[in-house]
Amino acid sequence: MAKTLAGKCYCGAVHYEVADAFRYAMNCHCSNCRRTTGSAFKPFAGIERDKLAITQGADSLMIYGEETKNNTHCARCGSLLYSVVRDGAYVHVAMGTLVDAPSIRPSRHIFVGSKAPWFTITDDLPQHDAFPS
Ligand SMILES: [Zn+2]
Ligand SMILES: [Zn+2]
Repeated sequence: MAKTLAGKCYCGAVHYEVADAFRYAMNCHCSNCRRTTGSAFKPFAGIERDKLAITQGADSLMIYGEETKNNTHCARCGSLLYSVVRDGAYVHVAMGTLVDAPSIRPSRHIFVGSKAPWFTITDDLPQHDAFPS
């Protein structure tokens, strides 16, 4: 059985647990990920939705979007915790909210075609203009 990783928002109202069994991890440079995080890009890791559980603060979530496609934030501090994607089957965990270090590392940069011009990628990971096919 996979190890469990803890995660939480900035203010600590919301805590979650997720299996250390992410299927993929990438750095997304699209403008939506930049805006929701306020960062140059968003490192995220994807896993089946049922492998993530809110352990504290389930009543303090601010869900922007639909049940099966959304960004889930802490309602109090606004941290983006994860996005529900792929018709609700997966979550993309915002890796910056993990407390424990996952086994996986981001393996590529995506949506580099819409990257912020003021940010320079300085590693050797593969770069994709949009989502890799
Ligand atoms: Zn919070
Ligand atoms: Zn993105």
